[in-house]
Amino acid sequence: MTLYITHPACLEHRVPAGHPERPDRLRAVEAALATPPFAGLQRMTAQRASEETVARAHTAAYVADIAGQTPDAGLVQIDVDTTLSPGSYEAALRAAGGAVQAVDEVLQGRARNAFCGVRPPGHHAEREKAMGFCLFNNAAIAARHAREVHGLDRVCIFDWDVHHGNGTQDIFWNDASVLYCSTHEMPLYPGTGSRAERGEHDTIVNVPLAAGDDGAALREACDVVIFPRIAAFRPDLIILSAGFDAHWRDPLASLNFNEDDFAWATREIMAIAARLCEGRIVSILEGGYDLEGLACSAATHVAALMEA
Ligand SMILES: [Zn+2]
Repeated sequence: MTLYITHPACLEHRVPAGHPERPDRLRAVEAALATPPFAGLQRMTAQRASEETVARAHTAAYVADIAGQTPDAGLVQIDVDTTLSPGSYEAALRAAGGAVQAVDEVLQGRARNAFCGVRPPGHHAEREKAMGFCLFNNAAIAARHAREVHGLDRVCIFDWDVHHGNGTQDIFWNDASVLYCSTHEMPLYPGTGSRAERGEHDTIVNVPLAAGDDGAALREACDVVIFPRIAAFRPDLIILSAGFDAHWRDPLASLNFNEDDFAWATREIMAIAARLCEGRIVSILEGGYDLEGLACSAATHVAALMEA
């Protein structure tokens, strides 16, 4: 059984006109998952993460700062491309809460795997810094929740968003219990993610790709580097930072994956998870800014998850 978690509050994180990380992204994913092939999805509404839960990957002071900066009207600019609107704090708590809830459902055996259709995305959010459209690091919060609440020994986060997840890397730089693996276009925002960045305990695995690379480069990165590292790490849970902005249609980057490449990576990760951790996968939406590329990629990803 595959679980789909979202919350209408995630549409209420508003951004300036013309901003790519817009509510229509989530509407496009919702529309794709409302079609007949997805009738078998188990659907849940995301709970609100507590501030204590969010602070497992950030700090209480940072969480309070985001709450305090959230305006009653209009928009507040945190950095050049990250904004807060009146609904942003609630959206961010529901996005993190959905990821945590997915962990609970999967670890308690009520779902085999889960996809969280949430925004704002999370992987650029560092321990004490919002950036790159991200407020709270949903994948990192989910991983810490799995460790500290469910007592898992090891969690893997595989991030195939086209941008490097500097925030996730920052949060787990000194944490040997979480293996962070990323494929991303380089050079590209945010500028981190070289192979030399490996963390204090060699649990950061960066495989940068070059502009123009296609699904063959993804397969090579996975087969040669990332999948062997995941197998050797023997995680108890695999979390996917599932951004779909490496799709060829995406306006923010220049990789040339297609929707079938995301389905391939999903099935391969499912096979690894089946061997190592009873198939337990929690997938969390990150980027993806062409509505058609995002919708068809999310659809092939979730359809593959449903094959479990
Ligand atoms: Zn991205």
